[in-house]
Amino acid sequence: MRGGPAPERYDQGIAPFPLEEGYGNALYLHVPFCVVKCGYCDFHSVADSDPQTMREIVGAILEEIRSLGFRPRPRTIFMGGGTPTHLPERLLEELCQGILDLCDLTHLKEWTCEANPESCTPSKLQVLKDAGVDRMSLGIQSFHPSILRFLDRPHGLEESRKALELCRETGFPHLNLDLIFGIPGEDRETWAEDLRTALGFHPDHLSCYQLSFEKGTPLHKALHEERIPAPEEEVCVSQLLSTREYLRDNDYIPYEISNFAKRGAWCLHNVNYWRAGNYLGIGPGASKHRDGWRATNHKALPLYLSSIRESGCPEAQAEFLSERTRCGEALWLGLRMDQGVSLKELEARFGIPILLTYGQLIQEGREAGHLLLEEDTLRLSEEAIPVADSWLMRFLSPSQARVPRGT
Ligand code: SF4
Repeated sequence: MRGGPAPERYDQGIAPFPLEEGYGNALYLHVPFCVVKCGYCDFHSVADSDPQTMREIVGAILEEIRSLGFRPRPRTIFMGGGTPTHLPERLLEELCQGILDLCDLTHLKEWTCEANPESCTPSKLQVLKDAGVDRMSLGIQSFHPSILRFLDRPHGLEESRKALELCRETGFPHLNLDLIFGIPGEDRETWAEDLRTALGFHPDHLSCYQLSFEKGTPLHKALHEERIPAPEEEVCVSQLLSTREYLRDNDYIPYEISNFAKRGAWCLHNVNYWRAGNYLGIGPGASKHRDGWRATNHKALPLYLSSIRESGCPEAQAEFLSERTRCGEALWLGLRMDQGVSLKELEARFGIPILLTYGQLIQEGREAGHLLLEEDTLRLSEEAIPVADSWLMRFLSPSQARVPRGT
């Protein structure tokens, strides 16, 4: 168990996060730096950081792992952000070497690194490959220069092509492309062209997200002030459904609402999130979860750094989730996957009778054609995909869960 003073919030009745040998199956490292801030982005990342800050944060990330007091033995590693490949090459190497030194990788099945095209140099990719990264996830978003400009992306078409070719030449066996649809003014054909171009690079995985206008982002402000038009709902739904059809026809399985993979190429790290599993997040703003304990690190870089220096523990918030909350989250996340959820498994895990607790919501979902119940498996129907994001949120609402008598 980790030493050092317990953070103040633990005085409010929450036991310290149980950090001990055996935890850390899914290891996430958050690298919070980007070359610029994209207009739609609400991830925790900062632009224009100086090399000294980057050096300090990489040092603190490794110190956070060291301070766990045990050697994590991850099955999956995901380096995300931010843009990990925005780190100078020497720091990227230091980060990878630190992971190799501080973790037991004998059970490792997948090591993903996120990257943006403009920061993919041959030598940085080689550093990642030499360390053991076997899956690159590239933030391509679009192959249309006008859309890249609209999104304030820091790269152009040629950089994307070059980065994708470089990933292939470097020999990463797995490649994911992140793409965005639902851009205001983007028609069906423009998006279809993006998908066709993406498939020309033979990735084994695609993540296709609809553009969302998150509060606090420049794009949200522009929409709110009517400086840009809103995307047309009908076009977005048609893009979403045609994506599923087109990718299915090309042997990509829509194994999650926004994620498509060739057989055997699921992102194991993310599958663990969708199955509401345990995970260990390291870095500014990262979260960890273990059997109901959930803790989130300080986001602000100075606070993250000082807490690591003072106690090795950068947690800013901690909570212990009730079985009911965890069960609601497991339904909300699990139903995103095409496999759906096993009711028996959830009942065994959380001790909650699902059909009794969520009976009304499930019944409503079945009557509306959103949910399918086949024996023990509850799944989302294909018709529900366009409304899934908002509809599934209802599993998180306590008012949707009836408290069974005697529990
Ligand atoms: S590159 Fe990704 S993380 Fe960085 S600002 Fe753009 S969307 Fe956000």
